[in-house]
Amino acid sequence: MGQQITRRGMMKTCLTAVAAGAVGPVSTTAQAAATAPAANDYDAIILGAGTAGLVAAVEAYDQGIKPVVLEKMDLPAGNSIYAMGGVAACGTRIQKQEGVAESKDDLFADMMKVSTDKADPALTRTYVEHIGQDVDWLQDTIGVKFRTLSRLPYPLLSRLHWVEGGSITGGGMLIRLLLAACKKRNIPILYHTKAVELITNKRLAVTGVRALTEDGLADFKARGGVVITTGGFSANREMLCGYLGGVMSRLPLRGSSYVTGENITLTKPLFAKLVHMDQFHCGPIVSATHLNPEEALNSGYGIIVDLRGRRIIDEVNTYVAKARALPHLTPENKAYQLVDSNWPAVKKMADKCTDMNSPFFQDDTVEGLARKAGLPVEAVVTTVNSYNEALRNNKLEDLNPPCTFKDPHAMDKGPFYAFPFESGMTATFGGPKINIKAQVVNLEDEPIKGLYAAGNAAGGLFFGDYLGGTQLGGATVFGRIAACHIAQACKKGKKA
Ligand SMILES: Cc1cc2nc3c(=O)[nH]c(=O)nc-3n(C[C@H](O)[C@H](O)[C@H](O)COP(=O)(O)OP(=O)(O)OC[C@H]3O[C@@H](n4cnc5c(N)ncnc54)[C@H](O)[C@@H]3O)c2cc1C
Repeated sequence: MGQQITRRGMMKTCLTAVAAGAVGPVSTTAQAAATAPAANDYDAIILGAGTAGLVAAVEAYDQGIKPVVLEKMDLPAGNSIYAMGGVAACGTRIQKQEGVAESKDDLFADMMKVSTDKADPALTRTYVEHIGQDVDWLQDTIGVKFRTLSRLPYPLLSRLHWVEGGSITGGGMLIRLLLAACKKRNIPILYHTKAVELITNKRLAVTGVRALTEDGLADFKARGGVVITTGGFSANREMLCGYLGGVMSRLPLRGSSYVTGENITLTKPLFAKLVHMDQFHCGPIVSATHLNPEEALNSGYGIIVDLRGRRIIDEVNTYVAKARALPHLTPENKAYQLVDSNWPAVKKMADKCTDMNSPFFQDDTVEGLARKAGLPVEAVVTTVNSYNEALRNNKLEDLNPPCTFKDPHAMDKGPFYAFPFESGMTATFGGPKINIKAQVVNLEDEPIKGLYAAGNAAGGLFFGDYLGGTQLGGATVFGRIAACHIAQACKKGKKA
């Protein structure tokens, strides 16, 4: 899906943008110490400068209140800058202009289906009701440029609005534009400022945040509310081990190393209801180069073998299902997608690997390919021959594991290719449950006054898998909703 970018390159690109003044105002340290509370009074305190946080900040400002963003790193360092930049929506102006009709009810039904009906229906309904106008808002207010729509396989259809990233990822561009929008409004973004504790009153309503700044601890007062937009816990190995199990805690990361579970540590002391804690998304990755080979795994061609040269999974599965299964099927969490030149896009895939200096192997024979890849030659040749023979005899389903491609292709046209991959952790879906106002609820399902969450920090919207483009979409929808509710609370002079 889209262009590739290395982890180091991505961070460097963002840092360059910061240095060039494309972002900011911005102090690199908290602006005042705990001894000068008046300087630290805001209407909305937003924790984390990812998509959800920056969207909330812009919306809060445009609603006429005073927001601040606290970011623990020296730049927006979360998953957003790794995102390819797809946003799934219906009812957008772009769709209308291009004559595409995607109904809200269909998007709702498909989001629920992808989650095997375990996503929160009220949050899903809120998503579909808001995302159309929110994509228009990203265009009009933030200046996001989206590529022309194209029709993709179910369930993406004509829903994916791709942020035009130019030389960086779509997600990186989205963050750049959101930072520019904050700068235009003089919204303070305090880097090196890590939220470590929520401050409450005697009734456990959230009234502020204690943060670690370069000058030590500082307290920030929130008149309207605090929004947790710190991302999930995909980079916290201990939490992954506890909530997902040891195998999944050892996967390489496909995204940020800095989303370390503050959505949990900050909210748990307030008895937040944590939901979907064992749910996550993973996908294929080459950890050494950060290459994402998902198009090879989704190609409908070839077979997947482990380091012993055996087929390990029905190739009809999606790239997500394959990545999810891999660490359980192989002790090394590593496999090879073997494809031949019947796959029309094989050369493009090989070029992508070359561009990213990522390993792949190519040979005119299966035997030569196995040798080059360091795989057991006899085993690989036997596996490929068995597959071709089963295909000829219409017995692919009798293989172990079966292959249930509806339109299978023989592995008989050289040159042959081997693309290595591992399973990598993309994002966690668990977190404090939010309601349709983006308020965090407690164990009794009551909103915790003054506390909101959005993006990967919030729990409830995703379960199992996610319909591509709804994570950035969800960060946008609930980031805006949180800001609007805080603004309403400020105007009424009380916490919602
Ligand atoms: C490789 C990849 C591709 C993806 N592609 C897509 C896609 O095309 N479409 C899509 O919908 N989704 C995609 N996603 C998912 C998407 O990137 C995330 O859902 C989204 O970026 C989450 O945004 P966020 O604002 O919730 O959090 P993040 O962007 O993760 O931001 C969290 C921020 O909070 C900061 N922070 C953390 N703790 C603290 C603290 N205690 N105090 C202060 N700051 C803190 C972090 O440093 C970080 O800057 C992709 C993910 C990956 C990894």
